[in-house]
Amino acid sequence: MTKLTFLGTGTSQGVPVISCGCWVCTSPDSRDKRLRTSAMIETGGVRIVIDAGPDFRQQMLRENIKKIDAILLTHEHKDHIGGIDDVRAFNYTQKQAVDIYATERVQKTVKKDYDYAFSADRYPGVPEINLHTILPDKPFEVKGVEVTPILGQHYLMPVLGFRIGGIAYLTDFNAISEEEIEKIRNVDILVINALRREHHISHFTLDEALHVSYLVHPRQTYLTHVSHQMGRQTQIETELPDNTFFAYDGLVVESLE
Ligand SMILES: [Zn+2]
Ligand SMILES: [Zn+2]
Ligand SMILES: [Zn+2]
Repeated sequence: MTKLTFLGTGTSQGVPVISCGCWVCTSPDSRDKRLRTSAMIETGGVRIVIDAGPDFRQQMLRENIKKIDAILLTHEHKDHIGGIDDVRAFNYTQKQAVDIYATERVQKTVKKDYDYAFSADRYPGVPEINLHTILPDKPFEVKGVEVTPILGQHYLMPVLGFRIGGIAYLTDFNAISEEEIEKIRNVDILVINALRREHHISHFTLDEALHVSYLVHPRQTYLTHVSHQMGRQTQIETELPDNTFFAYDGLVVESLE
């Protein structure tokens, strides 16, 4: 069994958007308050966080997380790596460096943005990070848990999704090859990004995400990385096919496998 907690389900600006007065951003429904997209997967006592965006601190506090085993990074956009400085808290409590898994290209940006954590004469108290290099076509293990990377395109940027046990998690995709779909076909739970209804250059629209879900054929699909342009949760959740749901922050799902 694999368990996933949605730490955040909002697009890069989150929902509500700063200074926006639209009917979604002013919704009283807590499910319309979306922190930047991130998720935590737990299986066999191992706890893996996918992405550490600017809301990482708030997400760890909200879910009362005392310990993590690893962070996997999907790509280097700020809404996915902007919270890495806050792994310091786990350095103190777990008394060790935090293991972060990313491709070489993503690591380059992490080292640039957090140069003080990687310099030779590090200031006391800077984050302690162990970077692990992963390859898009090579499954790897985190404390005995197998993780299969799923390669996608995010406009011009390659992006990685991950399959862990019965859950496949894809965010910030706007294209995926047949070959990669094959790696997640019939997975129990698919999480996939759906930004809005209108075309977008680097994100799946609602229709595109539903099409990929149709091809993958999971038992259940959850949509994430949602913009305020999609609508209020109460409205949009009624428009989906069977076994397909809009995720919201704090939602927990469990795979049958
Ligand atoms: Zn994003
Ligand atoms: Zn708005
Ligand atoms: Zn992105």
